[in-house]
Amino acid sequence: MRKDIATPVRTKEILDKYGFSFKKSLGQNFLIDTNILNRIVDHAELTASSGAIEIGPGIGALTEQLAKRAEKVIAFEIDQRLLPILEDTLSPYPNVKIIHHDVLKADVRAVIEQELDLDKDIMVVANLPYYVTTPILMKLLEEKLPIRGIVCMMQKEVGDRISAKPGTKEYGSLSIAVQYYTKAETVMIVPKTVFMPQPNVDSAVVRLTLHEEPPVKVKDEAFFFFVTRSSFAQRRKTILNNLTSQLPDGKQKKDKIQAALQQSGVEESRRGETLSIGEFAQLSNALYPFFQE
Ligand code: SAM
Repeated sequence: MRKDIATPVRTKEILDKYGFSFKKSLGQNFLIDTNILNRIVDHAELTASSGAIEIGPGIGALTEQLAKRAEKVIAFEIDQRLLPILEDTLSPYPNVKIIHHDVLKADVRAVIEQELDLDKDIMVVANLPYYVTTPILMKLLEEKLPIRGIVCMMQKEVGDRISAKPGTKEYGSLSIAVQYYTKAETVMIVPKTVFMPQPNVDSAVVRLTLHEEPPVKVKDEAFFFFVTRSSFAQRRKTILNNLTSQLPDGKQKKDKIQAALQQSGVEESRRGETLSIGEFAQLSNALYPFFQE
């Protein structure tokens, strides 16, 4: 029986065998602690019939633990140099399929439909490449994939923004975008020492559980997100100032923006960071008719 991949000794052996050198530009920080990996996988609450989707398997440290618990694992890896390594390290796990593709360009829905059983539980579990954490998460959420949720490692600072509550300095359009689709919780803080090479920043594991219904009703999702992004364009500005400078013809439509603010019970002098997701929904619904054309 081979030792787990996620130990310093085995990881080094694998890297040496293949002469692999890390590419910083691809966010390659591999996990070398099986305990941490098991705790991450625990948070995904997989069963023997679950399907798991991984982004960036690296040399297979997390993939191996997922393969032991899920029925099938699909993993998207961008770096071709890792393919022969994964074929070797994951050879004991016939329930793993590696897809050589940039996940940001992949048709993830088509892959899920082809490879996994849609009637069963499906989770995304990943130690994300930090340089593209937000685009990957937003792609997975906006595409409304048939998944129960996402458990993933990211920079602690990004995790703090994702799970932030109104009125805090971390709260912004990313918090609202993610919380519109999911219940977001930081479930672990992870020290740098469990990675090879060690990243410069602290890490956190965030669990995102998809809402069955969005927590607020919006007339137009794209417009709702546009209004929230506009409201945070300059954090020190009031919501009225941000909206007039960001919405199309906002300056000419100032009276309409003021009317919409009043209709939704939001004082013009407030700043975006004080508005709840419910208030943003009301505000974007009130603004929507004025910005249709
Ligand atoms: N899962 C492994 C682990 O925990 O040890 C590796 C995680 S490492 C932080 C991120 C991985 O994502 C690397 O293997 C990297 O090559 C891969 N990657 C980076 N950008 C990617 C992209 N756009 N699509 C798919 N994989 C990507």
